[in-house]
Amino acid sequence: MARIGVMGGTFDPIHYGHLVTAEEARVQFGLSQVLFVPNHYPPHKTLDGVTPPEHRYHMTLLATVTNPSFAASRIEIDRPGPSYSIDTILELRRAHQAGDLFYITGADAILQIVRGAWERAAELLTLCQFIAASRPGFPIDVDDLRKFNVTGNPLANIHVIEIPALAISSTDIRRRVAEGRPIRYLVPEPVETYIMKHELYRGAGR
Ligand code: NAP
Repeated sequence: MARIGVMGGTFDPIHYGHLVTAEEARVQFGLSQVLFVPNHYPPHKTLDGVTPPEHRYHMTLLATVTNPSFAASRIEIDRPGPSYSIDTILELRRAHQAGDLFYITGADAILQIVRGAWERAAELLTLCQFIAASRPGFPIDVDDLRKFNVTGNPLANIHVIEIPALAISSTDIRRRVAEGRPIRYLVPEPVETYIMKHELYRGAGR
């Protein structure tokens, strides 16, 4: 049975931390493919200050194009309204009927899910497995996951991986661009060129 990774994010912008996470998850969990799914409308953010979805999608495409196991998906970009992950997973389950899905995301997101903060969180936990990537110094406390788990589901579907490269963050990259500091070696070169060409993040204090 195919095992497919679904790498969800705002990717504003995508960086090497995301790419290393996806590659590590691919190898550790024997995934045949990782789909990068930039959201259109992050359900947990105001759109104020978030870069338009087409720019974020293009940067994701540029960053993933050289890895034959990676693909950028428009599934959320083309769906109007808030990009609820449950809708994406249900759509992908229909498209990959014989596959197991592994949703890869940041550590904070997993805590939000077990706290029931995401749309239909309890159901989501039964539809796919989760790979939670944590930054060094911010380990996921499994006891916290248990303590805050309001979904009623066992948490066996949640896997944790620590990714040193996640010391890179989108917030830091946006700040660096705004301050005229280098982002070389933090993002793939074509992404850096795209950011400069489209003058993204110039006034970003976010
Ligand atoms: P975020 O809240 O901006 O990020 C939280 C932390 O996780 C940041 O440190 C972020 O690092 C990191 N992160 C985000 N995506 C990651 C990934 N795929 N792998 C490793 N680290 C990651 O997160 P977001 O990107 O906006 O949201 C993550 C995903 O959850 C999105 O697809 C979003 O649509 C989905 N989501 C769904 C619901 C819902 O269905 N109700 C609610 C909330 C979020 P960087 O800033 O460096 O990326």
